[in-house]
Amino acid sequence: MSYDVIVIGGGPSGLMASIAAAENGAKVMLIEKGSKLGKKLAISGGGRCNVTNRLPQEEVIKHIPGNGKFLYSAFSVFNNYDIIHFFENMGVQLKEEDHGRMFPVSNSAKTVVNALINKLHELEVEIRMNTVVNAVHYDEHEHTIILEDHEKIRTKSVVIAVGGKAVPHTGSTGDGYAWAKKAGHTITELYPTEVALTSNENFIKNKSLQGLSLRDVSLSVLNKKKKPIITHQMDMLFTHFGVSGPAVLRCSQFVVKELMKGQQEVPMVLDILPNEHEEHLIRSVWDSVKHNPKKAFKNILKGIVPERMLAYVLIKNDVSEDEKAGNISKETIRSIIHDIKHFSFNVHGSLPLEKAFVTGGGVSIKEIVPNTMQSKIMHGLYFCGEILDIHGYTGGYNITSALVSGRLAGMNAALEAN
Ligand SMILES: Cc1cc2nc3c(=O)[nH]c(=O)nc-3n(C[C@H](O)[C@H](O)[C@H](O)COP(=O)(O)OP(=O)(O)OC[C@H]3O[C@@H](n4cnc5c(N)ncnc54)[C@H](O)[C@@H]3O)c2cc1C
Repeated sequence: MSYDVIVIGGGPSGLMASIAAAENGAKVMLIEKGSKLGKKLAISGGGRCNVTNRLPQEEVIKHIPGNGKFLYSAFSVFNNYDIIHFFENMGVQLKEEDHGRMFPVSNSAKTVVNALINKLHELEVEIRMNTVVNAVHYDEHEHTIILEDHEKIRTKSVVIAVGGKAVPHTGSTGDGYAWAKKAGHTITELYPTEVALTSNENFIKNKSLQGLSLRDVSLSVLNKKKKPIITHQMDMLFTHFGVSGPAVLRCSQFVVKELMKGQQEVPMVLDILPNEHEEHLIRSVWDSVKHNPKKAFKNILKGIVPERMLAYVLIKNDVSEDEKAGNISKETIRSIIHDIKHFSFNVHGSLPLEKAFVTGGGVSIKEIVPNTMQSKIMHGLYFCGEILDIHGYTGGYNITSALVSGRLAGMNAALEAN
């Protein structure tokens, strides 16, 4: 038995590739090693399935800092708006939330995954669940997929859609890199992205700020010369090992890259009140102090800075809990506001790739045709999704990349086979 297209991996990229290949007339088999399709897709966006993002194409690409520009030509064939139409045509109503993130109106990942599965059935894609691919054997005319139980299946085109190495219990255990290498592809260094960061700072070790979450703060990663490499304004969280939360996840890949260059620690700076001007804050606190000299100084700042952060900054500036406002000098106010606007700390590492949301690095995009996702090295070989050296922020950008590259891979794998 031989197939036109075999898609390995039933994540968003493989599901879309199978659908696109079948829609283009190919006899398709989808092979998935787990017992569920779209497992990681289903846990995205806090379990509600963040299918794509509605921001303009330019913005979507900007939010894919890991080689997002490679997707320009793919986007000219199938983009984030096409993803929205694709789901709506299958009867999945979508709604927009913050930052352009798109979710099913049902708030249930099942709606999305079931629609994709129904589509596969409608297109008569043969699905092999609980089936592990062990190897891919490349030949002059056809390729052979070798399963764990040694069964061999022949195919004209193969689409490798097995994802990266992050959160391996979802099935993505990095199996595809070896198959890509065997075909002659380069795998760029793998690293965790969208990952929590660890820090050896005393305030982390002694848990002074553990559990404190900050809303809408501005967090920057600094280079060796203390110049910002990247800044993100979002929420963040202090944990027992370091920092986490959306702003940290977005900054994380820039930290990881600095550490990969051999740096032992990476400086970060946090602005707890990014929408307030520093001099203006100093003036307004100083005015309050002058008008309320008998008030406890901490009560003047209470509504402005989260309490635990305030307590920490006051200790750092040798101001006691019940110090009266009248006893505080302008210089101390200046120093406290400076700490609030420029809270500096070092991070020393990240959680491992297994605990990251997304894999950085992968099959080098230099060896992939950008408007077909075809290998430049091997005929009948296509890659899509997170196995490629493309990674974005969470917020629907990785899933968009997976669905767009999957669409192109499936479509072109079918065209080549026929
Ligand atoms: C907790 C979490 C939340 C996330 N939230 C978001 C978000 O909000 N927005 C966003 O854009 N991205 C998010 N992501 C990332 C996003 O889910 C992934 O980038 C995306 O699922 C990648 O799709 P993929 O098809 O390339 O691979 P995957 O979804 O990893 O699918 C690969 C599939 O291949 C199968 N497979 C692997 N090896 C084999 C083999 N040898 N034989 C057969 N099958 C195999 C696996 O079982 C798996 O089903 C999140 C990730 C995680 C972990």
